[in-house]
Amino acid sequence: MESLICVVCGRSFHQGQGVTMELSGKSLEFHSKDCAYKFLRELMQQVDSDCVSGPVKRLLDNYEERRQEAAKQKQKKI
Ligand SMILES: [Zn+2]
Repeated sequence: MESLICVVCGRSFHQGQGVTMELSGKSLEFHSKDCAYKFLRELMQQVDSDCVSGPVKRLLDNYEERRQEAAKQKQKKI
């Protein structure tokens, strides 16, 4: 099994464990959600807020839609 190295803390872990994601053509590997969260939070702090305001709004709208959809599904069951 392939062994991966966490980009945040350097711990090695096996493929299938931890969190992996592709970002701008790079493969990022994190041994835990905590390390992934730490990395993404720092990334967000360094990104120009004007650049992410569009995607952030889209995501928020998306999640709101999903929440409303879930709420509707719940009501149907009752
Ligand atoms: Zn780590």
